[in-house]
Amino acid sequence: MQEKGNISIHTENIFPVIKKFLYSDNEIFLRELVSNAVDASQKVKRLSALGQFQGEVGDLVVDVKFDPEAKTITISDKGIGMTAEEVKKYINQIAFSGATEFMEKFKEANDANEIIGRFGLGFYSAFMVADTVEIQTLSFQEGASPAKWVCDGSTSYEISEGSRTERGTDVILHVNEESLEFLNKARLGEILDKYGKFLPVPIRFGTVTENVEDGQDEEGKPAYKSVEVDHFINNTNPAWTKSPTELSDADYIAFYKELYPYAQDEPLFWIHLNVDYPFNLTGILYFPKIKNELEVQRNKIKLYSRQVFITDEVKDIVPEFLMLLHGVIDSPDIPLNVSRSFLQADSNVKKINNYITKKVADKLSEIFKTDRKGFEEKWNDIGLFIKYGILSDEKFAEKANDFVLLTNTTKESATFTEYYDKVKDLQVDKDGNVIYLYTQDVDQQDSFINSAKAKGYDVLTLDGPLDTHFTSYIEQKGGEKVQLKRVDADVIDKLIQKDQVVELALSEEESKQASTIFEKAIARTDMKVEIDALAEDELPVSVTIDEFMRRMKDMAKTNGGMNFYGSLPDNYKVSVNGNHPLVKRILAATEEEAAQLAKQAFDLALLSRGLLTGADLTAFVKRSVSLI
Ligand code: ADP
Repeated sequence: MQEKGNISIHTENIFPVIKKFLYSDNEIFLRELVSNAVDASQKVKRLSALGQFQGEVGDLVVDVKFDPEAKTITISDKGIGMTAEEVKKYINQIAFSGATEFMEKFKEANDANEIIGRFGLGFYSAFMVADTVEIQTLSFQEGASPAKWVCDGSTSYEISEGSRTERGTDVILHVNEESLEFLNKARLGEILDKYGKFLPVPIRFGTVTENVEDGQDEEGKPAYKSVEVDHFINNTNPAWTKSPTELSDADYIAFYKELYPYAQDEPLFWIHLNVDYPFNLTGILYFPKIKNELEVQRNKIKLYSRQVFITDEVKDIVPEFLMLLHGVIDSPDIPLNVSRSFLQADSNVKKINNYITKKVADKLSEIFKTDRKGFEEKWNDIGLFIKYGILSDEKFAEKANDFVLLTNTTKESATFTEYYDKVKDLQVDKDGNVIYLYTQDVDQQDSFINSAKAKGYDVLTLDGPLDTHFTSYIEQKGGEKVQLKRVDADVIDKLIQKDQVVELALSEEESKQASTIFEKAIARTDMKVEIDALAEDELPVSVTIDEFMRRMKDMAKTNGGMNFYGSLPDNYKVSVNGNHPLVKRILAATEEEAAQLAKQAFDLALLSRGLLTGADLTAFVKRSVSLI
């Protein structure tokens, strides 16, 4: 039996085109060929289970071998094999209808994956690295004879009698000159590890040296010897394919380490995904301890299709805010040759995305309800992520509103409703607004925090990177008529203005006089002076910064770049407590002494919030020393 023919695509030679366009991704040839071998092996199992194959299933190992001398890479399986007819049918007829369509679509395609995916060219990816490809195969069917297929990368092929004596297929690649890098143990091992680490059929790749016990030495201690044993590169039964009931916490953690051998911390908790309608999806998502951005980048979620690794670019499948999670998603509904444009167009992908969001929200809610203490302890690690989710995903926010935590300066946590109930009676102003006070810097805003606490008010700590945006979110969702004000946005009595006002002890004339003294002493055009009626024991002078303007500036900063607001100067106010004894003293003092006292009190206010720096600070210290 010998037959020559043409591969039925009615175009010029497509191989040079494939090679050229696919060059950058050429390592995927191994993924394609190994997963074909795995498929063929699994089909044996399936046919046997269905009673359509009566023979021995045997051990379904797939072997990957290479020979640097002969410049070949061989992928061998003990799968169902192919008859000559099947080779013609499956291998020769490239799955698309015509040259014109191919060339048209080819132009739109962005990457190798997409081309391979669209045209069912999995097997042909072999030509990215090989000049000549040979198939030796023997079908499982009774009485089948072995077939051999050879193609030298042109559109012509040759089929003849093959030499295989056992069921299965060898695909032999005669590696081309540009791809000699693949005739290397480390390189092939790396690709196998990347794509095949969890394939469902054992993949053997050469041998490894192992130390095994070998009797006892003279002292009676166990002796060891080195032996070469088969090197299997994969775990055929990864945790995500098992049922959650079979797995202990230790199993989940062990699998995390298997996925990310270089990860330093254990994950905080995990979610086992398992759905079969309306799409198929399994997986395990881990919540990592996030220490820095580098780590987030490194351990990405890996996308698998029937245990074949596809990509760790899961952008469209996993909602943006969950990109910081680690783990595995496996869905047979996502084709091996997944491409960007496929993901964006596929309706399952949107559903998967929603499903994952829901599962994550449910899991968090469950931990919150069943282990509030544990949840609070993890808040440091998961808070940022939950806030990010809330701010970027409405559906997630709906659920997360029930468990997102607000933390105050004494590190007590409360949900939105709990916090509202806690402060609504005391921190309400004369117009019925419930004022939440917050600080972005506990140290710098300490004097303001103390003033607030002296009134029995609570102060939230909102000092995280997303809190500028989160502040506005709390105003929208945190409770009725809730307003947020940073503790230093004004003096305390103005932050939460009550009906009963404190009387000002100064006459209008004195007030004006005090104002002038301070303005002159301070001599700063960017700060306006105001005489306020505060309690006697409040600080004599405070420097506050307008909430609205400051927030606009913060936003401008976090959004990157300086917009209109970003370029405005800080909007400071110098609030002089007209009821403080110092003001009386200043009014009674000589001009020179008054100016000195005013300046000193102002500098103290600046100092208390870290605004006094450089030469001003030195001058202040010198003046203070002279007063002692
Ligand atoms: P796909 O795997 O997407 O169908 P391929 O081009 O990779 O596309 O393979 C085409 C067909 O060739 C397969 O569907 C299968 O029927 C057959 N085939 C490829 N490799 C093997 C193999 N190792 N054993 C048996 N059949 C194979």
